[in-house]
Amino acid sequence: MDMPVPHSNVMDNLAAPAASYDAVVIGGGPAGSSFATLLAEQGHSVLVLERSPFPRFHVGESLIPETYWALQRLGLLERLKDSEFPRKYSVQFVTDTGKESAPFYFDEYNPHESSVTWQVVRSEFDQLLVDNAREKGADVRIDAQVLDVIFDGDEAKGVKVRLGKGETATTHEIAAKVIVDASGQTAFLASRMKLKVADPQLRKGTVWTYFKGAYRDPGKDEGATIILQTEGKKSWFWYIPLPNDVVSVGCTGDLEYMFNKDRGTPEEIFKQELDRCIGLQRRVKDAVWPTEFHTTKDFSYRSTQGAGPGWVLIGDAYSFIDPVYSSGVFLALHSGMVAADAVHEALTANDLSAERLGQWQPEYRKGVENFRKLVLAFYTPGFRFGEFLKVHPQYQTNLVDILIGNVFKPNVGEIFEAMGEVVPAGE
Ligand SMILES: Cc1cc2nc3c(=O)[nH]c(=O)nc-3n(C[C@H](O)[C@H](O)[C@H](O)COP(=O)(O)OP(=O)(O)OC[C@H]3O[C@@H](n4cnc5c(N)ncnc54)[C@H](O)[C@@H]3O)c2cc1C
Repeated sequence: MDMPVPHSNVMDNLAAPAASYDAVVIGGGPAGSSFATLLAEQGHSVLVLERSPFPRFHVGESLIPETYWALQRLGLLERLKDSEFPRKYSVQFVTDTGKESAPFYFDEYNPHESSVTWQVVRSEFDQLLVDNAREKGADVRIDAQVLDVIFDGDEAKGVKVRLGKGETATTHEIAAKVIVDASGQTAFLASRMKLKVADPQLRKGTVWTYFKGAYRDPGKDEGATIILQTEGKKSWFWYIPLPNDVVSVGCTGDLEYMFNKDRGTPEEIFKQELDRCIGLQRRVKDAVWPTEFHTTKDFSYRSTQGAGPGWVLIGDAYSFIDPVYSSGVFLALHSGMVAADAVHEALTANDLSAERLGQWQPEYRKGVENFRKLVLAFYTPGFRFGEFLKVHPQYQTNLVDILIGNVFKPNVGEIFEAMGEVVPAGE
């Protein structure tokens, strides 16, 4: 893969950062990198502060087709096309009895190259994104932990950051016209300002791992995401093929069910759910049993406010919904992109009000809500998309649009009027 040579973390932190920037970004994941790239390209000074040594491990490997447009604007399509990342042409659903639906091929719905997307190794993908931000002019500091956001009244004015680790670490106060929180699930600002609220309808837990040598369908289906239900739909598995014969496999269910104290270790929980998932068993039976199992829980939430004077939230730092439709990276890149345009306009107009910085957020929230309602339908006992479409065939396009990420399309949410009794009222 033709990847830019990663900069050394030591080199990153040798020169002291400037005393002030137009924008300081907390976090160098997809949201922060996308924002920083596009704001730097518009001629503004941007500092990205990322606490983890890069490349760093991260869950969330499956992209959806509409990610194409942000990747295009970031100038990364050619690098992805040259990459080893498996091509994802489709998504397939498998019922709790093991019945496999026909794969849904995105290019049959939209014969455009955006319909072929990728399954990415996040450490490599996120490195590509952050290196791109650096190439386009952002100042990127790794091993840079933001300790505090400095306010003057309710206006954000800068950050306090620790660069490096141990005895050689240094602490700096850096001024900025805009503070962009892209700190992911840490939700740095929303947590401190007590704006973060868990989604009461989506309290879930996940155990996931990586298999080597698991079964892959042949040909065009080799890189497909497969969503497999377990017996009685108590949980579901994702199956995401990655390079080097590795498959990411994760199981999600209600929090109390997944992490009930009697269930044992994450590996034991995973095994118990695998025993209840007919569709998955044949795919992993000849694979090497993994040694490491990861967990995460209660990951669906939103911030009740997305911007204030001199600050704005993007990506997971603003909100996150369940992983079932792989919407996270798409939303992170998209929010970084539209926030960069809003911040550019705000800086140009010298108006750093909440209204200006967060002007993209009402529209964005509507898109997120479209994903969220489809997630709620997925979890509704007895609800089946196939049966719904038999009664309401006119909504097939709306359903596909949401699945591929076309969630900002006007009227796409009309499908939920027909689902009224299924999907509980949203925001
Ligand atoms: C179980 C699960 C499965 C998922 N599967 C998928 C999937 O298949 N497809 C998909 O698209 N999405 C998936 N997601 C979601 C996806 O991983 C996230 O939505 C995405 O990573 C969000 O990007 P981000 O840039 O907002 O945050 P992140 O990628 O989390 O980046 C935030 C960065 O901020 C840094 N940071 C945090 N605090 C500080 C601080 N104080 N100072 C400096 N740096 C800081 C962190 O180190 C991190 O690198 C999944 C999520 C979960 C929970």
